[in-house]
Amino acid sequence: MDMIDLRSDTVTKPTSAMREAMAKADVGDDVYGEDPTVNQLQDIASELTGKDAALYVASGTMGNVAATLAHTRRGDEIICGLKSHIYRNEQGAMAALAGVQARPLEEEYDGTLDIEKIESAIQTSDDHHPITRVVAIENTHNICGGVPISPTYTEKLGELAVKHGLILHLDGARMFNAAAALGVSPKEIVGPSDSVSICLSKGLCAPVGSVLCGDTDFIHRARRARKVLGGGMRQAGVLAAAGIIALTEMPGRLINDHQNAKLLARLLGEVPGISLERNSASTNMVYFNLDAGVPNSGHEVSDSLRQEGVLLDLVGPSSFRAVTHHGIDSEMVEMSVHVLKKTISI
Ligand SMILES: *Cc1c(COP(=O)(O)O)cnc(C)c1O
Repeated sequence: MDMIDLRSDTVTKPTSAMREAMAKADVGDDVYGEDPTVNQLQDIASELTGKDAALYVASGTMGNVAATLAHTRRGDEIICGLKSHIYRNEQGAMAALAGVQARPLEEEYDGTLDIEKIESAIQTSDDHHPITRVVAIENTHNICGGVPISPTYTEKLGELAVKHGLILHLDGARMFNAAAALGVSPKEIVGPSDSVSICLSKGLCAPVGSVLCGDTDFIHRARRARKVLGGGMRQAGVLAAAGIIALTEMPGRLINDHQNAKLLARLLGEVPGISLERNSASTNMVYFNLDAGVPNSGHEVSDSLRQEGVLLDLVGPSSFRAVTHHGIDSEMVEMSVHVLKKTISI
């Protein structure tokens, strides 16, 4: 049975154009900086983000961790969101690997961090205090509903960062979704951010990889960090070839995923027993809950759906995330809601 897999956009497979480009890729040893395809990918990424340089890394986590290692010294502090990937979903890497502590702040409903709350969280130069070095945001913000954050906010945050000498890092795993949803360029999403990490292997469909962008000195330090993290890859052009297509040909279709997410949210909204979370379908994600009246647990619903060929991400006892992507069309969306309706009305 072909599954309708709505768990994540990470399940996307390389397109046939990617497979062809991978087979034909011109390669070299990237640890010597001699892989022409990796170099081309990095040039495209730095151009798209308006940064001096870029670095191909194995994953989004490696991009964020390499950025943290490159930006900070041991004992520094990073202001970040309580629901951010770097705080919740990277095994405490900033502490474990960089010796840095988080100063997590609760996000606003729209995925942003309140500028005044950030300002009052910045440490003073008193000898007792750690040095606040970085402020990190996420765009789109996954756990806040895949919500895109406007360039206006990022500009304001940039001004605050300059005022206090802070580094601004953007976890832009899905920044192309943000750009598509807001109708702005990737450069505008990056705005004043000093560094940005972008996933190629989610909605953009590459099989592997992320790209980290920033100024030349930063990328030089991040490159050293990547090596110690085990990310010095050799003929990585075989993978980067797919990444080039991800960056150049795939962003234009993300809007389809957003339309399918809107369709999904609309149909789910009509199902008795289901309530949508705020920000649902602002890009390619729909978060929803089973109401108290539904007799089945989230696990039970998840298991029955699986038997019927529909996969969802169970994110709480009765909460789900559904993510639309290249492998999902509107018929599959309709089918999945049909199956869900049947399952919870048993
Ligand atoms: C997926 C994701 C990452 C990490 O990417 P991996 O390639 O899974 O390591 C980082 N940040 C956000 C917001 C993500 O969604």
